[in-house]
Amino acid sequence: MRIIVAGSGPAGIVTAGELARLGHQVTILAAPRSSDGLEGFSFRVVEGLRAAGLGEALAELEAPVPRHSAWNGHAQSAGSEQLIERTSFDAALLAAASRFADLRPARLAAAARRGETIAARIVTAEGATTTLNADFLIDARGRGAPGGGRKQSGPATVALCRRYDIGNALLPSTWLETSPRGWAWLAVPENGRAYLQITVAGKPDALSGRRQLDSVFEALAAEFPGIAAHLAKATPKAPVFARLSTASACEEAARERVLRVGDAALALDPLSGHGVFEAIAGAFAAAATVNTMLCRPRDRALALRFYNERVRSTFAARVTSGRAYYQQEERWPGAPFWSARRNWPPEEAADVSSPAIQRRPVIDHGFIAEAEVIVTPEEPRGVWLRDGVPVVALWRLLESGAIDGPETAAQALGVPVPAAARALAWLATIKLRG
Ligand SMILES: Cc1cc2nc3c(=O)[nH]c(=O)nc-3n(C[C@H](O)[C@H](O)[C@H](O)COP(=O)(O)OP(=O)(O)OC[C@H]3O[C@@H](n4cnc5c(N)ncnc54)[C@H](O)[C@@H]3O)c2cc1C
Repeated sequence: MRIIVAGSGPAGIVTAGELARLGHQVTILAAPRSSDGLEGFSFRVVEGLRAAGLGEALAELEAPVPRHSAWNGHAQSAGSEQLIERTSFDAALLAAASRFADLRPARLAAAARRGETIAARIVTAEGATTTLNADFLIDARGRGAPGGGRKQSGPATVALCRRYDIGNALLPSTWLETSPRGWAWLAVPENGRAYLQITVAGKPDALSGRRQLDSVFEALAAEFPGIAAHLAKATPKAPVFARLSTASACEEAARERVLRVGDAALALDPLSGHGVFEAIAGAFAAAATVNTMLCRPRDRALALRFYNERVRSTFAARVTSGRAYYQQEERWPGAPFWSARRNWPPEEAADVSSPAIQRRPVIDHGFIAEAEVIVTPEEPRGVWLRDGVPVVALWRLLESGAIDGPETAAQALGVPVPAAARALAWLATIKLRG
């Protein structure tokens, strides 16, 4: 089937790669990003890109740097992240995509459904307008993707960003600090550079004019004493720019012939640091959903339900843990920035239902299919496989006394012993009753 993917960030490229692997003919519309930035990736992004067969883009990542934080005034150093210039990362992804997709330097201008096909009006890099027809459209245009119907949105948030020359004042590292008006992330990659991102309440449009942006930024930067000290001898290298950072999610990210993926479906507060991971994880789910809708029409409704519920529940889980993190900063609970984020989303009665076996849609070899899963309060969509081990079958074997440990479980289910051991350890933590 012919599929158009609009957008060549991680969500678009991974979805395109998976759909091509499933046998579809994919065209990617690639337009330059409107804002450039430096980001930090966790090891889960690295794993996701490898799983997607896009390991070559990892060459753009710098070596892991230590993370330092002064959240709620407590200085601590924990973990590491890998810094990356988004334009070079996206260029590497796009270069890799030429292996499996037809690449068009063009923007999607509009799309309309015509019976069983989608007509996409595109504007090429040279400015010519033309129409492409396809069986399905993937909207991976990021946060700026227009439309999308009803959305849930968090407090309006903007990140102001600036690059500096810093010489050898600091070793490669990242630094997180808070102030009454927001939080700041200083990233120091290799080569004597630094990148400061200050996240505050507001919308990018309200900050018109470069001069105004620069002076607002410098005044804000002075409110983070630890970071300001690190930048005491730094020289600004480029003007300040703004990135929209409000968390938002579509209530119906997938419809009959159009599916939104990545930030176009579900955009997180950058505090989460999981945006690219969720874009990649969502891309695997998107590809299986579209593949099912196109090639197994009897399961179309199941696939739509699976994808839309996945977007909603992932968003709910991420924003709930975001709220808990904001609540850990206790010094300015009444300041507008903190009070809005400590109280959003509104608290709901916790789901205290016990773990149970239910039938739910899962991703099975590139399709959405129903299977028995174990639903827990932490995993409301349910767990089907743990490390490749079917957990319901494992639990039944355990309950019947047919297995007594990892070796017998591995033999009964035909899985590796270490995987069986990890799945058994997980079962032991959830206390599922017979
Ligand atoms: C301030 C800030 C800091 C962040 N920091 C981190 C971080 O440290 N770690 C992390 O993991 N995530 C971070 N994120 C989140 C991360 O940037 C996104 O979650 C991720 O890029 C989403 O990928 P995507 O492919 O959905 O969208 P994008 O990466 O935004 O890609 C969308 C693509 O669509 C293209 N496009 C736009 N319009 C059109 C059109 N009309 N036609 C064709 N193409 C179009 C764009 O040019 C772009 O290439 C941050 C986000 C913000 C706002």
